[in-house]
Amino acid sequence: MAEECTHDCSSCGVDCPSKQEPQDMTEKLNAYSSVKRVIGVVSGKGGVGKSTVTSLMAVMFSRMGYHTAILDADITGPSIPKAFGIHEKAMGSEKGILPITTHSGIDIMSVNLLLENETDPVIWRGPILAGTVKQFWSEVWWKDVDYMFVDMPPGTGDVPLTVFQSLPLDGIIIVTSPQELVSMIVGKAVKMAQMMDVPILGVIENMSGYVCPDCGKKHYPFGESKLEAVAKEYGVEILGRLPIDAACSLACDTGKIESVLNPDAQAAAEKLEKLF
Ligand code: ADP
Repeated sequence: MAEECTHDCSSCGVDCPSKQEPQDMTEKLNAYSSVKRVIGVVSGKGGVGKSTVTSLMAVMFSRMGYHTAILDADITGPSIPKAFGIHEKAMGSEKGILPITTHSGIDIMSVNLLLENETDPVIWRGPILAGTVKQFWSEVWWKDVDYMFVDMPPGTGDVPLTVFQSLPLDGIIIVTSPQELVSMIVGKAVKMAQMMDVPILGVIENMSGYVCPDCGKKHYPFGESKLEAVAKEYGVEILGRLPIDAACSLACDTGKIESVLNPDAQAAAEKLEKLF
C-alpha cells in the first residue's frame, strides 16, 4: 500500500497489492438515446481553444455525413451555444430533455440552454457541476448520434475527474497552445487518461503560428512549436495544428462556426476519423 494511501484506488496510479479493480461509475444513457462514440476534448487550462476545437471537430464530422452531437461539460464557461448562434432554450419531452439542433444538424446540450439569462454566471460547487454533466448524459434524449464530442471542463481538478468517470469516453483529444508549458500539460493529461483507462486519440495544437495575410509567410509569435518532441516523448499522435485565424475567431464570436472553411481542422478531423 502507498504510504499516503487515501483508499481511493480509482484515482491512484500506484500499483500496490491491495489495489482494487476500479468500479464502473459511468452514468446510464437515457433509455431512448443512442450514442455510438464519445470523444472528450481536454486542455490544461481555459482559453487555449478547447471549445473552438470541439466545435470545429463536430462541424467537420457533420460535413463527413455523421450525425454529430456536442455535450458542453464546461459548465462554468459554456461557449458552445454562442459559437453556433444558439439562443433558444432546451425543452423537455416525455422521453427526456431535447437538445437544440443547429442549422447543419448538430445536436447540442449546454447549461446556457437551460439558464433563464445566458449571461448569468454559474456559481455552483463541484458536485453540482459534475451532477449537471451526468444529467446531460442520462436525461437528454440523444437520438441516433454517431459521434458525440464532449467539451470537458479545463484542467485536472475535481470536476473534470468526475466527468471522466461518469461518461463512457472512447478517447480524448488534448488541445494545447504554444504559449503553454506543453510538456507538462501533455504529461498531466496523459497520466490522467491512463489512470481513467481512457485512450488518448491525439493532440491538436491550436493558435499554432499565423500566416501573414500580406506576404503569406508563417510566423510564430510564441516561438517555434515544441510539440513534435513532446508528442514523441509521450507516444501520442499529433492530429493537427490550427493557426491563429481571424476569420475563425470572428465566426465563433458571431455564431457562424458552421460556415468556417478550415482545411487544417478538416485534415485533423479526417485523421481522427481513421482511428475508429
Ligand atoms: P477554451 O474553450 O479553451 O476556453 P475557446 O475555444 O473559448 O477557449 O477560445 C478562446 C478564444 O480564442 C475565443 O474567442 C476563440 O474565438 C479564440 N480562438 C480559439 N482558437 C482560435 C484560433 N485558432 N484562431 C483565432 N482565434 C481563436
